[in-house]
Amino acid sequence: MGKKIIVAGLGHGGIAAAAQLSAAGYDVTVYEQKSEGTLGYDWTDIFAPGALETAGIPMPPVTKFEYKENMTFFNPSETVGLTQHVPEDELEIKMERRDIYEHLINHALGCGVKIQYDTVIDSPILFGNRVVGIKTDKGDYYGDLIIDACGMLSPVRMNLPDSLGIEKELAPFEYIRIFRAFYNKASDEEVSAKFKVMLLKDNILGMSWVASEDEYTDVLIGRFEDFDMNEVNRFTEVLRKTSPRLGTEIVRGGQFVKIPVRQPLSLMVADGYAAIGDSAFMTVPLIGSGIANSLRASKILADTVIADKNDSFSAESLWPYQYNFFKSLGTDLAVLAAAKLLMAKLNAGDVDFLFESGTVTDDDITFGANFTGLSSMTIKVQDLLNKAKQVCKNPEFLKKLPSTGVRISAVTATCATIPRKYNSDKVRTWKKVYEKTFKTNL
Ligand SMILES: Cc1cc2nc3c(=O)[nH]c(=O)nc-3n(C[C@H](O)[C@H](O)[C@H](O)COP(=O)(O)OP(=O)(O)OC[C@H]3O[C@@H](n4cnc5c(N)ncnc54)[C@H](O)[C@@H]3O)c2cc1C
Repeated sequence: MGKKIIVAGLGHGGIAAAAQLSAAGYDVTVYEQKSEGTLGYDWTDIFAPGALETAGIPMPPVTKFEYKENMTFFNPSETVGLTQHVPEDELEIKMERRDIYEHLINHALGCGVKIQYDTVIDSPILFGNRVVGIKTDKGDYYGDLIIDACGMLSPVRMNLPDSLGIEKELAPFEYIRIFRAFYNKASDEEVSAKFKVMLLKDNILGMSWVASEDEYTDVLIGRFEDFDMNEVNRFTEVLRKTSPRLGTEIVRGGQFVKIPVRQPLSLMVADGYAAIGDSAFMTVPLIGSGIANSLRASKILADTVIADKNDSFSAESLWPYQYNFFKSLGTDLAVLAAAKLLMAKLNAGDVDFLFESGTVTDDDITFGANFTGLSSMTIKVQDLLNKAKQVCKNPEFLKKLPSTGVRISAVTATCATIPRKYNSDKVRTWKKVYEKTFKTNL
């Protein structure tokens, strides 16, 4: 039997890595707090299907998914609607979250992965500075490598000793609060845009969408500040003024959740430990999608583990995972996280201006399934900033632009210098610089 690998939490990247490692001969067990058959949310998700292939997972049956509509982005006053034009071969797919889980889990079970449900993980177990296991309500479990797929508030990552240098807490603007529900359809009135995305609607910092389906209307409200059901009821009344098909009865979902929207972890490996998915903050910072990136990361992690012929699973032998992640995805995500910090300084007037002046175009909001991993994100964001600088007549807005340009350049330069070979001092120095580019109040 191969070395023992523990996957903490049934996150998407974790289960996909588990499948690849089990197929390669490792003894892999996933520990999950929820009960069998209860994973996922009561709603649909959108992700790039190519990520499944990357992770060696077959496409789900065609009856289980449909291709996503192009979204139409609106400014706060809804005077301009810009519709994406994603090429057909780059369309993302939309699938029930529980079907995504079922598909990933069945694939992993077929590869020999063991899953222990109903097990709440409390913290990591350490031997010196090496992570050697997990403490749970069902007892302690030991492994040669612990893959942390426990999500944004992972009790494994958050209870690691400071000496490992892995970031634990999230700062304001590094996560977004989401309310999502499917409402009944109030009328059969035709809609001009089926999938409306609204930025800073009602002059509140955040994003919301109203997607009109045949049977219901899908509403998502995302904000940087806390809000409750009273606010949801007030805000959906505001949405109804321009989306009259939106009913008042919640037919599915109706939960508040949090999504990380920050740069990837500055250090995602330690002796005996690797973080993946939301636990390592791999979501696309402006929109919070994380499924495809977790799947893509699973391939990089599994390849790195398999290449460690001594099965040492040390920070050094796991480092190529972080290096290759940053080279293929992490840099783009970090650049977007820097761009998001500009968004956090905008007001409704700024966004109205950007749309109404033609600064933002439908090209700018068109990202297909290959959205990340193209290394073109830096150029795209810098282009947009330059365009804004040239056409902008609003002095207040103009003042906000240079610092974002500086930060994006600093992030790009820092990511380019990530050490290829592991050296503890060099990695720590790089990590500090990377963290500082986001902490500095530019
Ligand atoms: C409302 C909402 C909508 C989203 N929509 C999309 C979308 O359309 N497309 C997209 O790509 N992404 C979307 N995301 C983001 C996406 O869900 C994540 O980025 C992605 O699932 C990767 O996260 P993860 O699997 O690593 O972690 P999670 O999904 O958080 O999974 C972590 C797992 O660990 C388990 N766990 C946590 N703590 C413990 C513990 N103490 N003990 C045992 N088990 C534990 C959890 O039960 C869970 O099963 C959305 C997220 C939310 C909240």
